[in-house]
This record gives sequence, structure tokens and C-alpha cells, in this order.
Amino acid sequence: MKYDIAIIGSGILGTTLSYWLSTLTSLRICVFDKEHCEAQHASSRNTGVVHSPFYINPQKKTIAKSTLLSHDLWKLLALKNNIPWMKVGTIEVAINEKQHNTLEKYLNWGVENGLDETELYLFDHNQISTKEPHVKCYSGIYCTRDVSTDYGMLTNVMKNYSEKNMTDFFFNFEIKNIINYPDHTKLIFKNGREIIANFVINCAGGYSLDLAHKFNLANEYSTINFRGDYIIASTHHGNLVNTNIYSVPEFEEYPFLDPHWIKKSNGNTEIGPTALPVITPETYDGWINNFRDIFYLFKHIKANTLKIIFNSDFLTLASKEFLSSISKTYMINRIKKFIPDVDPKYFVTKGTSGIRSQIILNDGTFMNDVLELYDHNSLHIINYNSPGATGAPVYSASIVTKLHEKGFIKIKKNYTNIWDYDKILNTSN
Ligand SMILES: Cc1cc2nc3c(=O)[nH]c(=O)nc-3n(C[C@H](O)[C@H](O)[C@H](O)COP(=O)(O)OP(=O)(O)OC[C@H]3O[C@@H](n4cnc5c(N)ncnc54)[C@H](O)[C@@H]3O)c2cc1C
Repeated sequence: MKYDIAIIGSGILGTTLSYWLSTLTSLRICVFDKEHCEAQHASSRNTGVVHSPFYINPQKKTIAKSTLLSHDLWKLLALKNNIPWMKVGTIEVAINEKQHNTLEKYLNWGVENGLDETELYLFDHNQISTKEPHVKCYSGIYCTRDVSTDYGMLTNVMKNYSEKNMTDFFFNFEIKNIINYPDHTKLIFKNGREIIANFVINCAGGYSLDLAHKFNLANEYSTINFRGDYIIASTHHGNLVNTNIYSVPEFEEYPFLDPHWIKKSNGNTEIGPTALPVITPETYDGWINNFRDIFYLFKHIKANTLKIIFNSDFLTLASKEFLSSISKTYMINRIKKFIPDVDPKYFVTKGTSGIRSQIILNDGTFMNDVLELYDHNSLHIINYNSPGATGAPVYSASIVTKLHEKGFIKIKKNYTNIWDYDKILNTSN
């Protein structure tokens, strides 16, 4: 089989990208995935929040814009296809004056990133108590715009739109080997099939760095995987607080390590995630899936992994995360700092776990942005983490624009589209 573009990974990123490419070009596109259907990993195993970019540094322009502008695109699609779209809002709380200073910075960032002033308020503790009587804090940013949805369902709808545009999806296709020629790439799969592609786009989520290594790229980086476990509140206890509650990160470099109170689109209330270091991007239970994981571990431990493991801030947090993941009471005590009435006896059911794969740089610090690596006939999108599901429609449109500008593809003049590409392009600039 021969294609102009082969996309590795049918998560929310690979699927939205295939939609744009199949809409805006006349190229033959395929997407393949090792699983039996789309969105089996991070794209379905997440918190489901459509975030607003008040906590994103405006210097990260692409992510901030994608997060802001994708909101309305997802809304259109969700309403059209009966997908949950619950406007729950988010409060990010500060528990002391130092954290309050961070919220003041966030308020400025939010406005700079394009949020409307009527969607973002910095409240003192009395105003927060009026809104949510069970939340105790020094102050809090209240963002009225945040929504809970189901990103797995949204990915499924995008796949259907992309298929209507003649994109081929192949499932149970796991890469075994890649042979890179000057003008094309041969992809060899474990099921014995082969695909020839003029251009390959790697959207393999937690495995994207491994695949880039197969192209002999990004060899200086390594990954550490954090599993986020959640616990579901019993129905009446979940009504204690009706807004998503996040807290200002204890260490700004590790914003994903602090637990939240989440109102899910299926009606559940959950607390989590923990961030327990695990061996592979798919170790959803326990520490290890099988013996292959031990080889994976030894293959992936590099000097930068060891540097992060021995960083003192990281050690402090990792030990807390370890306690949070083995002791429900410890995790709930962290939530009690801002919701004192939370009671461990009402948290008995485990929610869905998800894994965040985080790239580590040579100096042992975390890469805090998405990495796009272009080669002569491939593009690798690595470290595409939260709020990646929120931003996927506009972020993937920006990738198509870059591919056009770099001469890899040619965008057609006339196309029909569920989303307005020209408008996105003009607003993003
Ligand atoms: C715990 C958690 C909570 C989150 N909460 C939110 C949130 O509330 N809001 C938000 O906006 N974002 C959130 N995110 C981030 C968001 O989920 C991710 O940014 C997004 O889903 C990444 O999508 P993806 O398509 O890049 O990766 P994935 O969904 O992981 O897709 C990658 C695909 O590649 C396939 N693949 C991998 N290797 C191979 C191979 N060798 N051959 C073939 N196929 C392969 C996999 O099977 C998979 O289907 C959260 C993430 C986590 C982990």
C-alpha cells in the first residue's frame, strides 16, 4: 500500500490532523494504530476538561492560542453530535499569600492570552466561600468558561469525518521496523503488512520519542512516565463542591503533580490524579505489565533520567506521590487543604487511570513545551501533554499550515469544512 502521508497514532492529535490534511489537500492519507480502535490511551484516559489558558505563559504562543481557540470548535462538534458539554467552571485556589501572587500573574496571563474579562475573576476567600461554601482558601481564580466533555467520543467523531474525506484507518497495526529512504519510508508492521509513505507524521503519544529514535532523531532525550490514578466520590459526597477545583502548584516546574477535584461529564466527581512514576506509557495497573517492561526500563534509563530522579524537589514530590498512590487517606489529606470536609469513607471506587509521558532534557529538567521535529520526510510531535486534548483542533491546523509553508504539502484553494480554517489562521496570527 502506498500513501502520500502516513500518520502513526489515532489519538486525538493524529485523528484531528488527519481530518485537516484530508480536508485541505488532495493527498492520500492513512492513520494506523496498534490498538483495535482509536483513542485507547491518553485521549480517552484524561480528566475531560476543556481548559482555558489563564495558567499558560503567553510566551508559549501556539499552545496558549490553541487552547483558547479550540474551545468553540469542540463546542460546535459536541452539540452537533450529542456529546456531553457541561459548563462547570474551574476555581484555582491559593492557600497562602505566595500562591496568591501566582494567581495575580495568572489573571494577567489570562487576559494577555485573549480570555474575556467576564470569564475570569480573582476572588478573595469570602467570595470563593459564597460561590462554593465547602472550599476554604486564601483566594482563588474563578474561570467560568471551563467545560467537561468526553474526548474519546470527540476523537471518534473526528475519525468519522476524516473517513468521509477518504482517510484510511488501520487498526491492530503496530510498527515493527522503519526503513527510511531519501524520498520515502517503508513501515513494517508486526502483523506482517507494509506501508510505503512519502511523508510520515509521528503522533504516537507516550511512544512518540521511541519512534523518533527509530528515525535516529531526538537521541539526546529520554522519557519518564507518570501514572495518574483517580478515585470516584459517592454521589451525595460528590455534590459537596460543584466546580472543578485545582490548586496552585507547589513546584511550578511540576504543575501536574498536585491533585484536583473534578466534575466529570458522565456526572461523576473524582479526585486525583496521583503522579506515580511507572515503567511504560501503558502501565495502567501495578508497577509492571510483563517481562518486556524490564527490557523497556533498562533500554530507556539514561543519564538525564537519573539526574531528574536525584533532584531534591522531585524527590520530595515523588515521595508524596508515592504515599498518595498507596494511601487514599494521604491523597485526601492533600485535597483537605482546600476542601476540609472531604471524607475518605466516601471514596471507594477507582476511576480511569491515565499516563503522562514527560520528556527529560540533557540537564535532567523537564521539557515544558511540545517538541516538533522535522526531518526530510517525517515530522515527530513529542511531549504533547495537557492541555493537548483541548487544543488539538487548532494545534493540528497550525501543523498543516507549517507543512504547507515548508513545502511538504500544498493546501487547496476550495474545500468544505466543519470548522473555518481561514478564520483560525487569521485569528492565530
Ligand atoms: C491523566 C491525564 C489527564 C489529562 N487531562 C486533560 C484534560 O483535562 N484536558 C486536556 O486538554 N488534556 C488533558 N490531558 C492531556 C491529553 O489527554 C493529551 O495531551 C492528548 O490526549 C494526547 O493525545 P495524543 O493523540 O498525542 O496521544 P494518545 O491519545 O496517547 O495517542 C497516541 C496513539 O498512538 C498509538 N501508538 C503508540 N505507539 C504506536 C506504535 N508503535 N504503532 C502504532 N500505534 C502506536 C497509541 O496506541 C495511541 O492510540 C491529560 C492527560 C493525562 C495523562
